[in-house]
Amino acid sequence: MKPPPFDYHGPASLGETLQVLAEVGPHGKVLAGGQSLIPLLNMRLAAPAHLVDINRVAELDTIAAGPGGVRVGALARHAAVERSAAARAVQPLLGQALRLVAHPVIRNRGTVVGSLVHADPSAELPAVLALLGGSVRLARLGGEREVGAAEFFTGPLESDLAPGELAVSAFFPALPERSGTAFCEVARRHGDYAMAGVAAAVTLDEDFRIAAARVACVSVGPVPVVVDVTEVCGPRPAASADWDAVARAVQDRIDPEEDIHATATYRRHLTGVLVTRALRSAADEAGQGAL
Ligand SMILES: Cc1cc2nc3c(=O)[nH]c(=O)nc-3n(C[C@H](O)[C@H](O)[C@H](O)COP(=O)(O)OP(=O)(O)OC[C@H]3O[C@@H](n4cnc5c(N)ncnc54)[C@H](O)[C@@H]3O)c2cc1C
Repeated sequence: MKPPPFDYHGPASLGETLQVLAEVGPHGKVLAGGQSLIPLLNMRLAAPAHLVDINRVAELDTIAAGPGGVRVGALARHAAVERSAAARAVQPLLGQALRLVAHPVIRNRGTVVGSLVHADPSAELPAVLALLGGSVRLARLGGEREVGAAEFFTGPLESDLAPGELAVSAFFPALPERSGTAFCEVARRHGDYAMAGVAAAVTLDEDFRIAAARVACVSVGPVPVVVDVTEVCGPRPAASADWDAVARAVQDRIDPEEDIHATATYRRHLTGVLVTRALRSAADEAGQGAL
């Protein structure tokens, strides 16, 4: 199918983009990598009267890695962030998650910020942002606001972005020293959205005991489900953690739905397995970094 008719806008600067978005308001949609929006248009599941293509706005094509974290601009492609040694060094979870996003050809075009705004509960990057307590910067003509991940994702394919706003960047905070991360998932075919997936972060104390542990689960709720499992892990070395108890604690906190890909029971089971796998791997990485 072909998309319904729309007026095309190709602004060349951020200021021009915000001006156009203010003019078209609720009738406009931003076009970034197009890897989610174009299929939606072609299937006529979206029919905006105006398409605002930001691909010429070079000032949005940025990746800034500093000691506090990584700020990714709205035009930074998945592949560019995945390949950025500076971004991977500051926040390894970005690279660990991005290699699981779709296929290389889609990652060459799709953007990190577009994926966050699209807010698919099966997508990896919303879980990464939620796990790390990151944020999205939203700009409109005459102002901007920074929205934390917990408030940004409001439902399946729904975010806090208001009509007339552009998501200009996202911030992925760094973790304290002696931290490790991992992203584990199961998909029916390589590159498909995950039937279940778990992002994990573990921080060890000076005696190599677990000081903090969190997971964010995908495909098991309307938004990424973040569970702090620090207390269940207890202040003990990772080697003696009761991972089965941790997995059960997370399973108790999720409410997966059945669909054509998997039953709710299977998704709950998978999540438990992936929680153990991801936390073990994150704890290993934290231990290696501390040696
Ligand atoms: C075959 C296939 C498999 C895929 N598998 C996965 C997968 O396994 N995991 C995964 O996470 N994703 C997957 N994707 C989606 C892919 O990662 C997309 O690139 C991503 O979801 C959206 O990024 P985009 O830049 O292409 O956004 P677009 O498609 O351009 O836009 C998506 C939505 O976000 C809005 N938007 C985009 N950028 C902005 C902005 N800066 N400000 C305001 N609104 C904005 C658009 O208006 C639109 O509503 C897959 C896609 C395909 C086609």
